[in-house]
Amino acid sequence: MSLATEGIAAGLGTAANPLRVAIVGSGPSGFYAAEALLKAPLAVEVDMLERLPVPYGLVRYGVAPDHPRLKQPTVIFDKIAQSPGFRFFGNVAIDRDVSLEDLRATHHAILFACGAEADRRLGLPNEDLPGSHTATEFVGWYNGHPDYRDRTFDFSAETAVIIGQGNVAIDVARILCKPVDDLRQTDIADHALEALAASRVREIHLVGRRGPAQASFTTKELRELGEIPGCAPVVGAADLALNPACSSELERKTNFIAAANVETLRGWAANPVAAPGKRIFFHFLRSPVAFRGDARLQGITFEHNALTGPPFEQLARGTGELHDIACGLVFRSIGYRGRPIPGVPFDAGRGVFPNEAGRISGAPGLYAAGWIKRGPSGIIGTNRADAVATVASILHDATNSEATGLNRHPKGGSAGLLAALDRTGTRVVNYEAWRRIDSEELRRGAELGRPRQKITRIEEMLALAGLPP
Ligand code: NAP
Repeated sequence: MSLATEGIAAGLGTAANPLRVAIVGSGPSGFYAAEALLKAPLAVEVDMLERLPVPYGLVRYGVAPDHPRLKQPTVIFDKIAQSPGFRFFGNVAIDRDVSLEDLRATHHAILFACGAEADRRLGLPNEDLPGSHTATEFVGWYNGHPDYRDRTFDFSAETAVIIGQGNVAIDVARILCKPVDDLRQTDIADHALEALAASRVREIHLVGRRGPAQASFTTKELRELGEIPGCAPVVGAADLALNPACSSELERKTNFIAAANVETLRGWAANPVAAPGKRIFFHFLRSPVAFRGDARLQGITFEHNALTGPPFEQLARGTGELHDIACGLVFRSIGYRGRPIPGVPFDAGRGVFPNEAGRISGAPGLYAAGWIKRGPSGIIGTNRADAVATVASILHDATNSEATGLNRHPKGGSAGLLAALDRTGTRVVNYEAWRRIDSEELRRGAELGRPRQKITRIEEMLALAGLPP
């Protein structure tokens, strides 16, 4: 018996009893999961919940405004949203507007694609001194995320430090250094444009705890830092010295990104550019050990590290040698963690929902995809295969419901969900209403010669969606 016909025999996945799946989160993994579900050879209905009134998660609020090509997947997401069987429930947060129990009652499966919204911590005293921020806050702020739009950053000091050497750190450095007139051509939030135009930051220090061979940024993003008008990358030859284990890491063919990164950095070290304006300094093998300052940040003390361990498993160990960078601003860009949701098993060490092939451990009917499933790694496209794998688990469980125990009784789906949301007085933004917000952002942007002017207040989004205050 094929997967599909087994499902039909059990009644789940037929027109009379469609498989009803609630997806929590509307970023890439949520949309790719919806696509895979709606292409399945079963009758499937997908209700996508998003706590903000607007969709697309990190594509809207994480991708840097000067990287518009990376936002192109929204064209595909928009097509997926037009599929029969898909419904969008914007401005709906689990546990705020609808409980997990309600969702279990209305849907056969709940797929969490809610990303990794919290930050890793360094665990140092004074980590939260005024002037010390997470990259998440800064990225959310310049991208007009309603949660972060009212944050303030003091750009009056000339020196800023970024801790961590991934692509988010690179985005932060680039936005700090790019000429504001270049940013004016993007959909960066208006408040960010205004504040960055007055910024006095001229020196940015990008600091990594391991060496250049272990930095996790990609070469294209690294090279972009060498192409910013009026800004020069600076790296000392001593920072690029490699131990034998690093050299052997770089020799491995599959490690070509690290090899190209090191080559790029060596090029900058060998041919220093006279810095006309701003400079981005790269420092390797340094860990922060203290944030200095009383009322606000005045500097950071770093300890030099040496790498120990075999190739690809090298860890940074402090040497005791200290080094200080005076600065007024620091962005901690050391990765993300998922947030727990009451009733859903949570691995507090890794910040993910523990799972096997997307099935959340010990919680039948609950699934995970994307960063909340595997941790915060990869590019947007990585989430497609990841979501497809989780959907394969859901379809398997649905078509073998007797063996897997997935509840196969007919469920209320979107009608049941709407009734539950009515009880809590939730103002639901459907996809048509999102398109009204979208059109208005595009219209305002066009008037200014920009791709879009983002609306950053939830109440204004809801008013444009036609919902009463
Ligand atoms: P990431 O690539 O994991 O980088 C995190 C950085 O923080 C690493 O350098 C890591 O060093 C460092 N770190 C972690 N814990 C630390 C600690 N306690 N002390 C000092 N340093 C610490 O994460 P990300 O930059 O947040 O990016 C997340 C994902 O989004 C990545 O897959 C990234 O490629 C992707 N992304 C892509 C783009 C793009 O394609 N343009 C843009 C933004 C983000 P260790 O290696 O030593 O752990």
